[in-house]
Amino acid sequence: MRPPAVMYTRLFGPARGRPAAPAPHATHGAPKPEMARLVMKFGGTSVADIEHIRNVARHVKREVGAGHEVAVVVSAMAGTTNRLVEWCREASLLHDEREYDAVVASGEQVTAGLLAIALQQMDVKARSWQGWQLPVKTSDAHGSARILDINGEELIRRFKACGEVAVIAGFQGVHPETGRVTTLGRGGSDTSAVAVAAAIRADRCDIYTDVDGVYTTDPRVVPRARRLAKIAFEEMLEMASLGAKVMQVRSIELGMVHQVRIFVRSSFDKPEDIDPHTSPPGTLICDEAEIMEQQVVTGIAFSKDEAQIAIRRVQDKPGVAASIFGPLAEANINVDMIVQNVSSDGATTDLTFTVPASEYERAKDTLDKARDRISYERLDGATDVAKISVIGIGMRSHAGVAADAFRALADRGINIRAITTSEIKFSLLIDAAFTELAVRTLHSLYGLDK
Ligand code: ASP
Ligand code: MG
Repeated sequence: MRPPAVMYTRLFGPARGRPAAPAPHATHGAPKPEMARLVMKFGGTSVADIEHIRNVARHVKREVGAGHEVAVVVSAMAGTTNRLVEWCREASLLHDEREYDAVVASGEQVTAGLLAIALQQMDVKARSWQGWQLPVKTSDAHGSARILDINGEELIRRFKACGEVAVIAGFQGVHPETGRVTTLGRGGSDTSAVAVAAAIRADRCDIYTDVDGVYTTDPRVVPRARRLAKIAFEEMLEMASLGAKVMQVRSIELGMVHQVRIFVRSSFDKPEDIDPHTSPPGTLICDEAEIMEQQVVTGIAFSKDEAQIAIRRVQDKPGVAASIFGPLAEANINVDMIVQNVSSDGATTDLTFTVPASEYERAKDTLDKARDRISYERLDGATDVAKISVIGIGMRSHAGVAADAFRALADRGINIRAITTSEIKFSLLIDAAFTELAVRTLHSLYGLDK
């Protein structure tokens, strides 16, 4: 499902590796008080208009005033990227993807320039950087390019030479061979920020957003959800992949490989109310070695964007799974939970799996076309399903965690359609109507309620 994280290791040079013990300054979740090198990332709602941009500038000024070296990564103003994408579609449904990137990358350029102006107006030395200027070198996969390399040396030189704040347009890069502007996929400025942090060897990457941290589950569903002080990279990767929408999944992979400590915090706190020498509220995403008291379960993620497909009475013989999942893979459809029964008659069996709801029709179509090769009796499907995932590194060393969930859900009359497990999580597919009840039940069961 996820691209191999190891790619990044090669591309950015050797990862710093997993620390054997927490670094001395890192034993508390909070940012360390002494002088540090920081990346501050602000998303679209935090730069929605000039007033918000001024607020961001005050946050930046606060950190600069505390003696830190600062690179800022910004998104486009809220709604801007959507509008740019829409314009491309309006111009032509089948547009040149390189020109799409030329258009959608413009949103971040505007905010980078505006923030540099706002900072200068507050007597903070600053300049803006577009992707090609740094440069942020990427692959040529336009619309979803991967970062290959960022040279952070010039930024570091300027920190030292004149204390200049670097304001970097997120979401964009350049393909070194063609010189064309690229973008990283929606939500990509998180990934820009973590990549810049790795490139300049920042002490921390602060993600300022419209929530004040990572919660045990979505507080809109479970009002008693708690903000986590810390969460391990692996857990956050699962949370984000399995439905929590705090950050782009790739940015967390990148943080994990390069050991970039990521601090998720609110951009709506008034900058002047924050003492840069104390720990603000937020969640630190870090190496598990930095987390002292590890709970068995850290969080519960859920997603209603799931669909289930069951292939009935398919031949139970070698090569069948390949004949099903091969065509789906070729069609670029992500298959998630797979359940296959041992056949009772030795001849046929049922095979059930999930795909993203948005790919449901395409998946059915693909299987329909491959019907001769696969040979099955019929296809059944359901889109009113939800996937609930329970995540925690502590599961590695505790047995029976999933069994407790099965009992608790049974007591509520919730039927489980499919189950998958891995070392640090298990996922359950249930009827979508029971999503909230299931999440609340499991949240209490594992002692996560505040
Ligand atoms: N502006 C881009 C988007 O909306 C990138 C980002 O905000 O992270 O997808
Ligand atoms: Mg975002």
